[in-house]
Amino acid sequence: MSEEPLTWLRVPNILARVTMSDWSEVTRPIPVPNEWTKPFWEAARREVLALQRCQACGHFQHPPYATCVSCMAIDLAFEPVSGKGAIYAYTVMYHAGDRRFAAAVPYASIVVELDDAPGALLAANLLEVPYTEAKVGRRVEVVFEPLNDDITLPQFRLARDAK
Ligand SMILES: [Zn+2]
Repeated sequence: MSEEPLTWLRVPNILARVTMSDWSEVTRPIPVPNEWTKPFWEAARREVLALQRCQACGHFQHPPYATCVSCMAIDLAFEPVSGKGAIYAYTVMYHAGDRRFAAAVPYASIVVELDDAPGALLAANLLEVPYTEAKVGRRVEVVFEPLNDDITLPQFRLARDAK
């Protein structure tokens, strides 16, 4: 009987430890810009989120394509957006498919729909909170994570002004 309180103390300690992802030990793979994605990465490096927009019909799309997925026009340009939006979908990664991510497991991968660009969906990680905070519809805002001198990764955190 005297050992029972120790068992009860141990369980909450373990749960508290596993809910926050540790990204400090993760070395992310570096994206390689191509002719279509280069403007996106150049803007991100300046901490601006810029998405491809059709100049014919106004549709935003992501990732970038050679043509507008809505009207097939080829007149496309990158335009800055606010970086505020909502979680459209999410998944929790419990296994490290890539060993470089092992230290962060479990972590939340989210798909974000931006207020300024409905229909354009960005994949990212939800940072600064336990993965259990990822819920569809929650308000998020972009944060910029420099990976090296050339590449800065747009990521998201829960919106600071969320009700
Ligand atoms: Zn279009």
